[in-house]
Amino acid sequence: MSINDVVIIGAGPAGLGTAIQLKRYKIEAILLEKEAVGGLLRNANLVENYPGFPNGISGRDLVELFKKQLENSQVLPIFEEALEVDYRENVFIIKTTRRVIISRIVVVASGTKPKRLPNINISKEAEKRIFYEVYHLGHVTNEKIAIIGSGDAAFDYALNLSKKNKVIILNRGVKVKCLSLIFKRALKNSYISYVESIEVEGVKYHDNNLILVCHNSTGKQEIYTSYLVVAIGREPSLDFFSKNLKMNLKRLRSLKKLYMVGDVQNGIYRQTAIAVGNGIKAAMEIYRELKGEKP
Ligand SMILES: Cc1cc2nc3c(=O)[nH]c(=O)nc-3n(C[C@H](O)[C@H](O)[C@H](O)COP(=O)(O)OP(=O)(O)OC[C@H]3O[C@@H](n4cnc5c(N)ncnc54)[C@H](O)[C@@H]3O)c2cc1C
Repeated sequence: MSINDVVIIGAGPAGLGTAIQLKRYKIEAILLEKEAVGGLLRNANLVENYPGFPNGISGRDLVELFKKQLENSQVLPIFEEALEVDYRENVFIIKTTRRVIISRIVVVASGTKPKRLPNINISKEAEKRIFYEVYHLGHVTNEKIAIIGSGDAAFDYALNLSKKNKVIILNRGVKVKCLSLIFKRALKNSYISYVESIEVEGVKYHDNNLILVCHNSTGKQEIYTSYLVVAIGREPSLDFFSKNLKMNLKRLRSLKKLYMVGDVQNGIYRQTAIAVGNGIKAAMEIYRELKGEKP
C-alpha cells in the first residue's frame, strides 16, 4: 500500500485553508469530508468579521467562493468519513467508509459536533423534525420553528430562519451568551419571539406538528411548532481517534506528525478567519517538515 504525505480530515474552513496552501507548495494532500464542503459555516446567517467583505456575506455564499477557490486550485475533496485514525510503526492508518489510507502526516480539521438534547421524552416521529444545524432547513417556508438555546448560534439560527418563517427562541435561564449586536437584532425582528425561563421536558408529534411540552414558573405549557432546532453548545469532533492515538497525541503533535486546526481545538475562539489561519499555518509547517527545514 502506498504511503501518502498528508491526509486532512474535514473540508470546513480549516481543512480548506490547509489544502489550498499545501497545493501552492505542490504537496498533494488527501482531503476527506464526510458531509459537505464548508462545514459549519454553511449555517452562518451573516459573516461580518471575515476580511474582504465590507458588507458581510452569508455563510452559504462564502462557502460557494471557497468551493470556487478549491476548484481553481485543483483540490478535489474525497467524500468519505474517517471512521478511525490510528498510529503504528511511524505512519497513520486512516480507515474511511470505503478504504484504508496510510499517511506520514495527518491534519485534523474535523470541527465540532452539537451537544445533543439530554434525556427527555421524544417520540420517534418527533425525532425526524429535530435538527442541530439550520442548513438542513433552507427549503422550509411559512412554518413556525422553535429553537432551544441562548448562545450566538441560537440567535444567528433565528435570524437566518426568520427570513422565511416565524421563530421562537426558548432559553431555560435568563442569561444570554450571545454577541449583543446579534441579540438586539433578534429582539427587533418581528418574526422572532424570545422566551426566558422555560425548559422543554418532552417532544411529541401529532397531526403534522411538534408539541413541545415545557415547564415554566407558572407550570406546564405546550408549544406547537413544525420543527425544533437545538443549539445548546458544541464539543470537539474526535470520535475517530483510536485509543492508541489518544495516548500518543501530545507526542505526535510535538513531533509535527499530527496537526489539529480550527474549531476542533480552538475552544471558545471558534471563528472562520481563525480556522483558515490555523490551516494555512499548519500547511506552512508541514512544508518545512517535508523539506527538512528547521525553524
Ligand atoms: C450559526 C453560526 C454562525 C456563525 N457565524 C460566524 C461568523 O459570523 N463569523 C465567523 O468567523 N464564524 C462564524 N461561525 C463559526 C464558523 O462557522 C466556524 O468557526 C468554522 O466553520 C470552523 O471551521 P472548521 O473547519 O474548524 O470546522 P467546521 O466548519 O466544523 O468543519 C469541519 C468539517 O469536518 C468534517 N468532518 C468531521 N468529522 C469528519 C470525519 N470523521 N471524516 C471526514 N470529515 C469530517 C465535517 O463534516 C465538517 O465539514 C458561525 C457558526 C455558526 C454555527
